[in-house]
Amino acid sequence: MALSSGIILNVDDNEPARYVKRRILLQGGFDVHDAGTGKDALDLVDRIPFDLALLDVNLPDISGIDVCRKVKSRTESASVIVLQISASATAAYQASAALDSGADAYLTEPVDAAVLISTIKALLRLRKAEQALSVANERLTVMNHELHRSNEDLQQFAFAASHDLQEPLRTVTSFASLLERSAGPKLSEDERDYLKFIGDGMGRMRALIGDLLEYSQVGHKPDSSQPVDLNAVLAWALDNLRDGIAHSGAQVTSDPLPKVIGDEAQLGQVFQNLISNAIKYARPDVTPTIHVKVDQTEQECIVRIVDNGIGISPSHRELIFNPFKRLHGREIPGTGIGLAVCRKVIEAHGGRIWVDSVLGEGSTFSFSVPCA
Ligand code: ADP
Repeated sequence: MALSSGIILNVDDNEPARYVKRRILLQGGFDVHDAGTGKDALDLVDRIPFDLALLDVNLPDISGIDVCRKVKSRTESASVIVLQISASATAAYQASAALDSGADAYLTEPVDAAVLISTIKALLRLRKAEQALSVANERLTVMNHELHRSNEDLQQFAFAASHDLQEPLRTVTSFASLLERSAGPKLSEDERDYLKFIGDGMGRMRALIGDLLEYSQVGHKPDSSQPVDLNAVLAWALDNLRDGIAHSGAQVTSDPLPKVIGDEAQLGQVFQNLISNAIKYARPDVTPTIHVKVDQTEQECIVRIVDNGIGISPSHRELIFNPFKRLHGREIPGTGIGLAVCRKVIEAHGGRIWVDSVLGEGSTFSFSVPCA
């Protein structure tokens, strides 16, 4: 037996007309159930999972428009497609009334057999696509929820791991230094080197754990939606970088900056990380010059920090924002978390961060934040 293309309710009080439509629908490969009144139609809708109701507007007991309204208002039958059909004389008025009552489409008699079948198939196709979309949407919602949860888990894990690692690290560090103090004079040169390597390793691990802890804690949604004056935020960051700026002779200038919506402390951290990088990754024998400026659109402020440093090759411009990604060895201190922190903060503010750069000439780090 051939598979039915769909289950159709064929409602018409006029028996010959109903018979003709039944024949057409059967030829179209549909499973057809007939009803001659509105009441019979509603009884059938309660019992059979129809895909579509071909509904005559003029019925003797309940009007086709009311039948449609009832079908569409019940949760169990709301998804049944209703194709209203009526005599052409009253079509214009009835068409809008039928469609307003929830019908999905409207045809006027006399209907060509091929047009009727094609219309029904098109409506069923549309419904199938809608159902697939709604399943995909539901799946997306579940996945989103999962992602959010696993992100939170990861955050908590990183926090717990980095927090709990500090204690054994402190123990190892203090016993290594006790050992050095008590056995120091008796140790050979090699043994003293070994202890030094242990000390260096501990120092590096302390820095990594500290940064991991910081990374797991930043980037919560800004607490306030108060305007934040970026001039004050920049001044705070520059004050923290006072020694590094003095030591490098860096020249930091800024255009007047606007107010934005965000978290003062987190944005201060972003300025501090980006400007300290601009100083750290200067070209040898070139005085670092750093300029802060802003391009403002209606919705967002794009803050740009322009340096004249070593620059970054195109293949690394995305990667450097990943946690612990570094392009340098120990010759330049760092753990590779600074830009990852910046990205987390800016994304929590609903913005983006990126870099444009010419290798050997300098870089421009830009981030967007909502304007106040
Ligand atoms: P860190 O400075 O601790 O290595 P970051 O996350 O701040 O970590 O930076 C990641 C990498 O991006 C750095 O190791 C460096 O190679 C590169 N980088 C960052 N800022 C600049 C800059 N202004 N100019 C050139 N390279 C930079």
